[in-house]
Amino acid sequence: MGAPANSPLRALIDLAALRANFEIFRRAAPRSKILAVVKANAYGHGVLPVARALGAADGFAVARLEEAIELREAGLAQRIVLLEGVFSIAQLRLARAHRLDLVLHDNSQLEMLEAEPAAGEELWIKIDTGMNRLGFRPEHVPGVQARLRSLLQTPSRVRLMSHFARADDDAAMTAQQTEAFLAAHSLWAATGGEVPEFSLANSAGVLLWPKSHGDWIRPGIGLYGASPCASRADVEFALTPVMTLQSAVIAIRCVAAGESVGYGATWRASRPSRIAIVAAGYADGVPRHLPSGAPVLIEGQRAPLAGRVSMDMIAVDVTDLPQAKVGSPVVLWGRGLPVNEVAAAAGTLAYELLCGVGRRAVFEYLD
Ligand SMILES: *Cc1c(COP(=O)(O)O)cnc(C)c1O
Repeated sequence: MGAPANSPLRALIDLAALRANFEIFRRAAPRSKILAVVKANAYGHGVLPVARALGAADGFAVARLEEAIELREAGLAQRIVLLEGVFSIAQLRLARAHRLDLVLHDNSQLEMLEAEPAAGEELWIKIDTGMNRLGFRPEHVPGVQARLRSLLQTPSRVRLMSHFARADDDAAMTAQQTEAFLAAHSLWAATGGEVPEFSLANSAGVLLWPKSHGDWIRPGIGLYGASPCASRADVEFALTPVMTLQSAVIAIRCVAAGESVGYGATWRASRPSRIAIVAAGYADGVPRHLPSGAPVLIEGQRAPLAGRVSMDMIAVDVTDLPQAKVGSPVVLWGRGLPVNEVAAAAGTLAYELLCGVGRRAVFEYLD
């Protein structure tokens, strides 16, 4: 990505860990096929190396046409599902040319298909079971089915799907969504005379709700080694972090008790302190809302952030870490420091941190 080879900021991507996480999903849902979710540049990990390392996946899922075309043009032959379908007739033509699977979630997309009658693409009908984002409401599904029947000759090319709103933390809502989906699926099968394949489960669904497994699972965050249940300390899935975001200490300074550090002078030394300046800031993806006290690993030891995250740097209180020196390795998150923990400190999710790693990071793929 044009970052200089001597940049201290490195995103180490452990492809063996990625495959080990994939196997955890395979074992959790042994009868389901796996659509590996690689949208947003594989959650910031680099879509091509990730997709190539996941050759055992039955397919890939992305959010945007450009992401799908990139995978096809790189020679990936598996099924590629456009999770939001196409947004225009021009996109529909491109999707057909690249043999992409389309999610169909809105009447406007049905109209596109009616305007450019089916050319054999595979369709995933999205049913809204309570997320209220994309999808046909269950009561509208029979109408969609009837319209599709006059459009497609091969009903076996149609699959059904839905998406959970809170599979990570709400059993009642997840059970309700599953039931609503299975009812719509049964009705579809009874009307169409054929039982379509279906897909319901994201990472949390796969690991917590076996009833939701169905024919195709759609793990994302868990493949990258972050627990999909960040808010629950009671569930552990033996996932291994794939990305370790590393940098280095570029300066050490001593401040007197009472002196402040950084923009806004929000951190003040309560004792004579040693401060390590680390080359990683919000332009690199370190969240600016990370508060003083948030953990940073220096020389493998935890030390607290001191003061505001700046664009290119952070300051860390290493008063109790005498071994910290210029050049000391620093881990912002990854091995030894779960990205969920850093995300929680910043009031956000691992998803956002992983997707947000900046262009200055040098990506190194380890296998
Ligand atoms: C992003 C996404 C997933 C993957 O979700 P995770 O929580 O990352 O496992 C699955 N399905 C759809 C429709 C998505 O948009």
